[in-house]
Amino acid sequence: MAKRFSVKISKSWCKGCGLCIGICPKKVLELDGQVKCEPVRPEDCIGCRQCENVCPDFAITVKESE
Ligand code: SF4
Ligand code: SF4
Repeated sequence: MAKRFSVKISKSWCKGCGLCIGICPKKVLELDGQVKCEPVRPEDCIGCRQCENVCPDFAITVKESE
């Protein structure tokens, strides 16, 4: 079975710069109505962690889920 990942966003740390959204190869992330990052397609996440690495505010944590 394919691995699943959870993408957690700290909304208080996110400044809505959109870098993570631009870098995600699976289009998992979008900005919500408050201009904060939101994982809208978490089931598509491949766990590459590019979003985590690119975020200047350390607002993203990617974990392998059970
Ligand atoms: S870990 Fe990779 S696939 Fe998953 S949300 Fe981040 S950039 Fe997208
Ligand atoms: S890169 Fe970080 S600060 Fe920028 S939108 Fe994504 S989570 Fe928010």
